[in-house]
Amino acid sequence: MNIPHSDALVFFGATGDLVAKKIFPALYAMERRGHLHAPVIGVARSNWTIAQFRARARVSIENHGSVDEAIFAKLRERLHYIRGDYGDPATHTALRKALGDAAHPLHYLAIPPSVFPKVIDGLGRSGCARGARVIVEKPFGRDLPSAQALSATLHTVFDESCVFRIDHYLGKESVQNLLVFRFANTFLEPVWNRTYVESVQITMAESFGVEGRGGFYEESGAIRDVIQNHLFQVVGFLAMEPPPTTNDDAIRNEQVKVFRMIRPLNHEDLVRGQFRGYRQEDGVAHDSRVETFAAARLRIDSPRWDGVPFFIRAGKCLPTTMTEVLVMLKPPALSTLCPGQANYVRFRLSPDVTIAIGARVKRPGEDLIGDPTELKVVNRPHGDEMNAYERLLRDAIVGDGTLFASQDGVEAAWAVVQPVLGSATPVHEYEPGTWGPSEAETLTAGICGCDSPVSLLPHGQDGGAR
Ligand code: NDP
Repeated sequence: MNIPHSDALVFFGATGDLVAKKIFPALYAMERRGHLHAPVIGVARSNWTIAQFRARARVSIENHGSVDEAIFAKLRERLHYIRGDYGDPATHTALRKALGDAAHPLHYLAIPPSVFPKVIDGLGRSGCARGARVIVEKPFGRDLPSAQALSATLHTVFDESCVFRIDHYLGKESVQNLLVFRFANTFLEPVWNRTYVESVQITMAESFGVEGRGGFYEESGAIRDVIQNHLFQVVGFLAMEPPPTTNDDAIRNEQVKVFRMIRPLNHEDLVRGQFRGYRQEDGVAHDSRVETFAAARLRIDSPRWDGVPFFIRAGKCLPTTMTEVLVMLKPPALSTLCPGQANYVRFRLSPDVTIAIGARVKRPGEDLIGDPTELKVVNRPHGDEMNAYERLLRDAIVGDGTLFASQDGVEAAWAVVQPVLGSATPVHEYEPGTWGPSEAETLTAGICGCDSPVSLLPHGQDGGAR
């Protein structure tokens, strides 16, 4: 369904953490660039005044950086606040009134998923959904059946083309760079396959724990929180075939094809861990078996990737905070020139953005010996690029779904992890500050370039690959 640009932005859960941390700074950045042209209406149950709501916006933006008074003044005037319960028709009637002449609102559901049905129903009954788009945040369900149920709820009121599922990883410059680097470089494509690639390793490490959100994390765990969504998006970009065009559906379709070719995980392909001390966190059960670390070995049954393991690892309380991809190539013909060192391509996705190629050069001197070195091909924080939320908000306003998760993709990703959700796989305790339980090493045993636990991960605080 082709509808014009959104002419009002509505945030349900406007008093919450996500709006404070991500949305206000994104709105401010849009205002600064001249990209914001619509009123912004916050909706929540808290008995706030409009002054309180605007003050909250101010504090959020200040926490994010310096504030230009003229820009903030413009944003401030756009902000409106409606207090009400989501199940009360009066709330939605008040919203319809506040929308005034706006015919194509964008509704952002920054609320717990359990509240979605009430809000969707209210939007439908009040007429607020007419001509509208809706944004939902991950998690898209907590397993395959609940993801399907959530989608069915959305579809009671919204056409699929009007639903925008935010997985903010897709909005990251560094993640989009995977696509560009792969498909805009002729030298890469000939080696980007099972003939030359030994393994692919993706690591998302966080040096912090659950930061007071133990209750939230108990419902989730590493697989649901980051693997099924963020890290699968990265796998999709690394493993997909070239899309026929760069239109939204073309890229998303290729990603979905990858997810559908990943074999459903079994317990032998997964190691779960839990950092020592997790069970003492507020909101965490004293006998919790929720994983704060997971390492998985994915197999992609495609002609390109048959036999190439994709290792994914994510964890909390690890030695550093960073996300990195390491694509190890097979050893060259004359591997004796530099034993134990194969070429690789390394993508640092965060906190900084780096693309590097591991190569070998001759060591100066008489002997014909290669020394490993790294050719850094990109390392350029630009400073003024849009962050993921700004980019995604702007795309949703104009109706461009390229960087949003599709329902097909969401379901295909759940289908891969579905067999190992829950606590049937053992959970091994690990010390905070380590790379997780030693059992994770068993997954990579015998793989070139994965001969020690830390080699799955690159390699020290500075991220320099071995
Ligand atoms: P919060 O827990 O902060 O809740 C947001 C707001 O929703 C609250 O301020 C509250 O407002 C309202 N709310 C909370 N519980 C209920 C309830 N039972 N019934 C009705 N309203 C309720 O959530 P977040 O802001 O952290 O997250 C919002 C959504 O975004 C969630 O789906 C979350 O999973 C997702 N998300 C969040 C991220 C984050 O960084 N915070 C990151 C990625 C996704 P009031 O009481 O005023 O109505």
